[in-house]
Amino acid sequence: MPLYKSLETAFIGIMKEFLKKIPKSDLHVHLDGSVRVGTLAELAKKQKLKLPSYTVDGLNKLLFKDQYESLVDYLQCFGSTIPVMQTPENLERISYEFAQDNINEGVCYVEVRFAPQFHVGKKMDFEKTLQSVSKGMERAQKEYNNNPKVKSGELPPFCFGIIVCAMRAFGRGFSQYFDTFLDAHVYSEPKMIHALASYELAKACVHTRDKLGIPIVGFDLAGAEAGNPAEDHKPAYQFAHKHFLHATVHAGEAYGPESIFQAITDLYADRVGHGYYLFADDKVTDPEIKNPKAYVRQLAQYIADRRITIEVCLTSNLQTNPSIGDISKHQFAKMLEAKLSTTLCTDNRTVSKTSVTKEITLAMKNFNLKGDALKDLLVYGFKRSFFPGTYAEKRKYVRGVIDRYELVEKEYNKRAAAKKKG
Ligand SMILES: [Zn+2]
Repeated sequence: MPLYKSLETAFIGIMKEFLKKIPKSDLHVHLDGSVRVGTLAELAKKQKLKLPSYTVDGLNKLLFKDQYESLVDYLQCFGSTIPVMQTPENLERISYEFAQDNINEGVCYVEVRFAPQFHVGKKMDFEKTLQSVSKGMERAQKEYNNNPKVKSGELPPFCFGIIVCAMRAFGRGFSQYFDTFLDAHVYSEPKMIHALASYELAKACVHTRDKLGIPIVGFDLAGAEAGNPAEDHKPAYQFAHKHFLHATVHAGEAYGPESIFQAITDLYADRVGHGYYLFADDKVTDPEIKNPKAYVRQLAQYIADRRITIEVCLTSNLQTNPSIGDISKHQFAKMLEAKLSTTLCTDNRTVSKTSVTKEITLAMKNFNLKGDALKDLLVYGFKRSFFPGTYAEKRKYVRGVIDRYELVEKEYNKRAAAKKKG
């Protein structure tokens, strides 16, 4: 092997170890998009559910792909995972495994999100649904935090929060719960029904959080953006806001900058999921906005100034929006340039076939992210989290994370310098 090649291989090795050891977070990840493939096959077989294959390899070829044709193609995967998440036992197991998968790659803080209204039904009410997810996560947390290295303070403990997702819109066949909801409101306009379902969810979550002490930390809005404006869901967000539930919104994923503006003003969003079209002045539709270029510039400025964080999901964006083409054309470069607060997230570990490590590697390779810029970005994932403790506890936790990061970084720099010399 030529010298430079062996050097390169050695560097890749050290880099891999560095990425494994640094504390990482994931603030945007859907539980139903992150079910272990083997578990899905096993549970579906048991429940006699139809899947294109019942083997890990088969599912990884036929259902979970490297590239998808469109958002619709991508979303089809959820039609296969949600049906195995309808009992407390399955939901707990899937959550436990999800937490383990995060722990195994050194993700010590995760905010897992899901839409309870896809799971609530005859077998589980709201409380049971949320409790099952929390129980699974907690079991993995307890096991890991018992590790002597965590107990001694050498490694940051594993912490988690739950974000509940409301749906911008829904129709028949979405879930048992939504069907019942539609049946009970046959005379109302769809817009009002969607808003009411979100409001009911916000109330159920605040109630469950306060009654059971489950770390429900945030409220999210997911689903088709076009034609379903965020402002329709204002009463739900107002209720969540009033009860100190943090807010994030999937916005600017498939729709323009105005959708992001609505999320951060009408819905009080502290963070924005994707925010892909933040800079797309050609997507501004409001005739009252006379200068879309200036509007976009001011919006970016507003977001940067208030440290509203964009949850960036590189792989997922490329898969659901093939028009981006190449990762080098992803708007993340512009976000970095505008000094926005951003964090790297997976969106869906299984559906997107990714991990936090993979997303960081992608960002490093394609956006020249390294050194302090990399550290700042990763630390933002902790600082801008909806940490389920007091502010003092959060500060202490983030401090521990930074200390650990700096220690690993120092070790890495030393090894890299020795490799260069030797
Ligand atoms: Zn998402």
